[in-house]
Amino acid sequence: MSADRAELGNFETWLARIGAGLDRFLQFEHPDAWANRDQWLERLEQPLPEDGLGIDAVTREIVDTLIPNGQAITRPGFTGYIVTGPVTAAVLANAAASVASPARYSSTAFNRVEELSLDWLAQMLGLGAMKGVYSGGGSVANLVGLGAARQHAFEQVGRDPARDGLDRAARVYASEECHHTIQRSAGVLGLGRRAVRLIACDAGKRMRVDALAAAINEDLGAGLLPVAVVANAGATNTGAIDPLADIGEVARAHGIWYHVDGAYGLPGILDARLRPLYRGLELADSVIVDPHKWLGAAIGVAATFVHDRTILERAFTQEASDYLEGTIEQDDGTEPRIEHSMDGFGIPYYNFGLELSSPCRGVVVWAMLQEIGVAGMRARIVRHNDLARRVADRCREHENLELMLEPTLSICCFRYVAPGIDDLDRFNQRLHRRLVRENEYLPSTTRIDGRLALRPCFLGARTGDGQADGLVDAVLRIGAALLAESRQLGSRSPKRNNVAFRDVIPKP
Ligand SMILES: *Cc1c(COP(=O)(O)O)cnc(C)c1O
Repeated sequence: MSADRAELGNFETWLARIGAGLDRFLQFEHPDAWANRDQWLERLEQPLPEDGLGIDAVTREIVDTLIPNGQAITRPGFTGYIVTGPVTAAVLANAAASVASPARYSSTAFNRVEELSLDWLAQMLGLGAMKGVYSGGGSVANLVGLGAARQHAFEQVGRDPARDGLDRAARVYASEECHHTIQRSAGVLGLGRRAVRLIACDAGKRMRVDALAAAINEDLGAGLLPVAVVANAGATNTGAIDPLADIGEVARAHGIWYHVDGAYGLPGILDARLRPLYRGLELADSVIVDPHKWLGAAIGVAATFVHDRTILERAFTQEASDYLEGTIEQDDGTEPRIEHSMDGFGIPYYNFGLELSSPCRGVVVWAMLQEIGVAGMRARIVRHNDLARRVADRCREHENLELMLEPTLSICCFRYVAPGIDDLDRFNQRLHRRLVRENEYLPSTTRIDGRLALRPCFLGARTGDGQADGLVDAVLRIGAALLAESRQLGSRSPKRNNVAFRDVIPKP
């Protein structure tokens, strides 16, 4: 087939087929993609097609080959990392926007919803009248916030860093539990990754404010320019929330920009039990949140909030472009003003960050909030926090489970323990590999004070009560089985009583 023109008006047919494929995927009729990896790899390894197959065949390939061999992230039992599958409303909104308003810059209903949804997010998440801009993820959202910080700090000493570059060494302060995108942002912004000074945490993985104050004083004495203090509102590793008010006061006392990274944890403010932990958020100069994490958007939706977006315009100034000359309406009063979505450019989000062409993302947030409201979102956040506490309670009740850190949000770090296991890290790693191979409960792991922990993070809109108990039951079952296997092997070996799992557990 060689038709080079897309037809008009046949989405109904093809989207319905994709929808049916996705429904089957969500009913988990398929094994893990690794199980039939050879098959789908072989099927996909085709030469560049000279002649196309047509939309019918492409749709079939998407439904038959791609979708069934996708990621486990959307499964209810998936609790790995901080990532989740999108809710239905998010997928529908994405699809609608990709056709009806492919770019966010025109003055369309979608552009309006971009702003409306940012204001809704600010209102819902305790940010008051802060103004936002969407980007593709927390990595970029942090970069945008720290770009504003850089602009602020250098303007204070009489320099425009966006125009003239940097003329002195700078510092960014963040806890040793900060997300690594803080360092990368510092690198990209020309401050240098090493400009990020990591501040020690207390036993609860919260930044120590005394250590922060001491570090700032030392650096000021050395003539370094403080650019930003970064606090976690939900550390990626553990969900810990830094003491936001105390940190904000230190930053304010020195006139330093205060950035709060709430990529994962900001929605936790909806849980009334946790709201006091967010006190001090009002001191922040910039805040980020990832709707594509806890709120259930499809990947590609993050937001940065500041009080006044003109600083973003200065930080991310674009040069004038000939191709826009005469296109954007110049209101010189000689022509009657005609509004048109072709060139009525709406709110200029392209001036507030890194992206010119960019999808409409606000429509996704708007659709999710329209669907279930703040009440629905609150109930979901509370449910996920409860699931982490449920796992923690089970750890306190069972002698073979050790709670490694009290949960703050929806993450619970724990491990399997028993007398006679001489390498708990190794044992729990084995346990985790076996758990993951069963393909039902899928947490990831981390290290708490150097010790390996199973680390479920409950985020999924499809994840319910059964998943917390199911996970704990599976860990107990697999732990007992591993223990029994090793004791059997151990009893055959006259030399040792204790079990060295390094030696006796066969590789998966
Ligand atoms: C996930 C995360 C990020 C990075 O966000 P992406 O959307 O993955 O780019 C930044 N900060 C924190 C605290 C995070 O949890």
